[in-house]
Amino acid sequence: MSDLVTVDHLAKAFGDHVVLKDISFTIGEGSVTTIIGPSGSGKTTLLRSLNALEIADAGVVRIGDVTVDYASVTPDRRGRLKKPARQQPARLRAQSGMVFQSHNLFPHKTVVENLIEGPVVVQGISDSDARTTAAGLLEQVGLSEHADKYPYQLSGGQQQRVGIARALALKPRLVLFDEPTSALDPELVGDVLGVIKDLAAQGWTMAIVTHEVKFAQQVSDQVLFIDGGLIVERGGPEVIADPQQERTRTFLQRIL
Ligand code: ADP
Repeated sequence: MSDLVTVDHLAKAFGDHVVLKDISFTIGEGSVTTIIGPSGSGKTTLLRSLNALEIADAGVVRIGDVTVDYASVTPDRRGRLKKPARQQPARLRAQSGMVFQSHNLFPHKTVVENLIEGPVVVQGISDSDARTTAAGLLEQVGLSEHADKYPYQLSGGQQQRVGIARALALKPRLVLFDEPTSALDPELVGDVLGVIKDLAAQGWTMAIVTHEVKFAQQVSDQVLFIDGGLIVERGGPEVIADPQQERTRTFLQRIL
């Protein structure tokens, strides 16, 4: 399996608060990486740095043939990026699709309109091609019969499945999930996790920040346990089943 993603010595502070100290790992093409760790340990910051929603202070992120060296895109004192440094993060962002905690759907657009907006407006895909792709994705997430509904007519779990389909509609090489079930009622969590498992079986490359460690154990090719701005333990699902580090054990005992 070749690596789709390489992260080298990533670092990020907010003011004096160092959130990511020195993070390095790779993600194989077609594999699933889950990122677990205590609240405030930097999981979301790491995920957002993978697609330049967050501009890290230092380190290199490569996705496919797009590389960002964050040291060269450090914003000036006013927080602005210099041209051409602005282009690197934009190219990196186009490599991945992000699924947020809460779906952020356009409330005044139907489900299918939500799905075709990005491909048509951002990628210049024709309306009919975008609708064909959208129909396939809605079938994949089990929502074909809801294509013409508005988000408010759907349950939270269904809305989140639309959010996933919308991220996939842009055909990203990497799909990033930021706690995709944490805003859902407990009875709706299973459906969304089921969809993510199906996507894993289809070979999508995914990085998932989650508190659902049982799910993480089932779906992961790689688990990263992060604490104090560092990867404390990295490995396969055995990081959850049989952690080697004391800090990983303590964290898992607290939440399991
Ligand atoms: P996690 O996802 O593990 O809960 P986060 O990456 O969300 O952790 O946050 C890590 C730390 O960085 C937290 O202490 C948080 O308050 C801080 N932080 C995150 N984003 C910002 C920001 N934009 N400005 C200042 N501090 C931030």
